[in-house]
Amino acid sequence: MVGSDGAPLLLSLADRRSRSAAMAHRLAALAIDVTSRSTIARLSSRLAQNAARSDYLRRQFDRASATAKIGIWECDLSDGSLTWTNGVYDLFEIPRGSAIDRQTTLACYAQQSRIAMEAARAHAIATCTDFSVIAEIVTTKGKRRWMRLTGAVEAENGVAVRIFGMKQDITEEKLLADRTRYLAENDVMTGLANRSQFQNHLDDLDGRLRGRAISGLLLIDLDGFKQVNDTHGHALGDECLKEAAMRLTQCCGNVELVARIGGDEFAVLTGAGLMPSDVETLAETIVDAIGRPLVHGGHRIELGASVGVAHNTGGTSEDLFRRADMALYAAKGAGRNTSRVFRSA
Ligand code: GH3
Ligand code: MG
Repeated sequence: MVGSDGAPLLLSLADRRSRSAAMAHRLAALAIDVTSRSTIARLSSRLAQNAARSDYLRRQFDRASATAKIGIWECDLSDGSLTWTNGVYDLFEIPRGSAIDRQTTLACYAQQSRIAMEAARAHAIATCTDFSVIAEIVTTKGKRRWMRLTGAVEAENGVAVRIFGMKQDITEEKLLADRTRYLAENDVMTGLANRSQFQNHLDDLDGRLRGRAISGLLLIDLDGFKQVNDTHGHALGDECLKEAAMRLTQCCGNVELVARIGGDEFAVLTGAGLMPSDVETLAETIVDAIGRPLVHGGHRIELGASVGVAHNTGGTSEDLFRRADMALYAAKGAGRNTSRVFRSA
């Protein structure tokens, strides 16, 4: 028996009556029975309290993980068996508690992500280290999702026996980050790379220019575009810019970058796969393609573009740009709707 503070209590009964040894034994047995019952009742009550507490904690954990879109996973490396919490089932849109195996799970990964995840996992197992990857999956109901997958290895005598970790649905933040980056790097009207992306590309190129990874730069400027705006209005002018961007993209199947770098100014960086003659042919193709009239909303609009070409001769990206700009100036001076190539004296 215990008191309210949990300390054992001593129960002692005494009187002056004399009893037989058998009676004394019966009384002792009775006392033992009473204390045993009390102990069992106490333990049962403690078990019930613990069960209620762990049930409460499990529900709290489930709620917190659902809010954070997190699930816990574990893989026994001796037989590859998996254990998931509800969060992981929900992430893959697999009914909670159903039987799962690695093959079914792996089939949900987009190919690139599967390769990256398998490589990171294998390295973690081989070196008994942790890993973290961002992976794209397609759920069993066909939804594309992004998750952050982290894993830790449990080892015995230096050999990995268990791998476990967390999977978190980060689809919303990934799409938001992608969108933010897209807006920072692209021209909203035409969808082409913007000036900032073009400049970053050029800045990155300086080492590569000397390695000749880039064959040339074309600068394209629409001819008489102010007049298009003045005659047909700014809205139709915008349609012309979109159409010019589309025609330019169609001409440039095999280039490094197509960008809108100003109001009616575009740039194309050609890769090492194009010979100087290919680059010059591309310039003529662009002049022809943009030079076709545009018919829009019953209006026929005459479009045209001048193109300046500079080949990569191993200088800086600034030199390359300056030379293409001089060639563009020459094309404008030659009457527009044509291309010119920068030739060093
Ligand atoms: P040039 O033949 O010498 O190139 O002359 P241009 O009339 O084409 O004029 P320029 O290239 O010097 O200037 C570009 C013009 O493009 C200025 C502006 O009216 C127009 N423009 C710039 N941005 C936009 C735009 O976003 N939408 C529209 N509709 N027009 C734009
Ligand atoms: Mg212009």
